[in-house]
Amino acid sequence: MKKKQKMFKFLWAFFIMISPVMIDASVRFSVSNERIANAQTMLFKINTNQVSAKITKAYVAYLGRRYPFFHAPGKSREDYYALVPTKYYQKPKKTNAVIVYIDKKSKHYISVPIMIEKGKYKSEKLHVKPSRAKISKKSRIRIQKEAREARKIYNTFTQKLYFTAPFVRPLESKITSAFGTKRVFNGILKSYHSGTDFRAKTGTEITAANRGRVVLVKKRFFAGNSVIIDHGEGIYTGYYHLSAFKVHVGDMVEQGEVIGLAGATGRVTGPHLHFAVHVSGTGVDPMQFLETVNQLF
Ligand SMILES: [Zn+2]
Repeated sequence: MKKKQKMFKFLWAFFIMISPVMIDASVRFSVSNERIANAQTMLFKINTNQVSAKITKAYVAYLGRRYPFFHAPGKSREDYYALVPTKYYQKPKKTNAVIVYIDKKSKHYISVPIMIEKGKYKSEKLHVKPSRAKISKKSRIRIQKEAREARKIYNTFTQKLYFTAPFVRPLESKITSAFGTKRVFNGILKSYHSGTDFRAKTGTEITAANRGRVVLVKKRFFAGNSVIIDHGEGIYTGYYHLSAFKVHVGDMVEQGEVIGLAGATGRVTGPHLHFAVHVSGTGVDPMQFLETVNQLF
């Protein structure tokens, strides 16, 4: 019996040590990662059912930005979540995320140490300078316009969550090129692969990763035929190089609904699907995002 109790005590201590769930001023919170790589996303959750005062505002303050808490889908009224992305070009360092919540009486702070590590992204050495000369002035103007348009979409915050179920991959297929591969020329990081590539023959049906509203259906210079879906509360998924569209701007699509067919449009060497994810205006690793956001369910 004594031995059992001891064992229990030990396990309990161990649990406290490893568990990211802590109690502070009656708000219970958890964070998906205490160590994170650049371009990865963290999921913060808080539960307020122990709090007597009404909370009027809650957010995560991180690296100079605020990420508001929202009601967690399918959970009780006391459960809130916030998704916090890190940028690809973020350098490794010790950081603190601060959960801030305000009730009638005061402002409360919970500091959460987060270690940003260097992502294990592969490197691709370029021997030929990615030539700008090959792109005409007219194309350059078009590229800039498309980039502005994309930024505007990703920075648009829809105050509503469209999905109520976990995210799924846009097709079941082999990943042929991972997110984040560095393109290095003369030792200088020129760019990186901003999505996850899936093997897909031309004509393969591509489906929505989750429920949402279609906000872009367009032929673009680099991405070719592109569809972007707004899932609400700052989350967007993108599907590039399509050979055909099956949706229009403004359509509500369900998870698993066909939105287009795979192809090789835009600047590509062969047919595949490039799948991209943005969270609150930041491009993130799609596969790590799916794993993280699905912890909501
Ligand atoms: Zn790609």
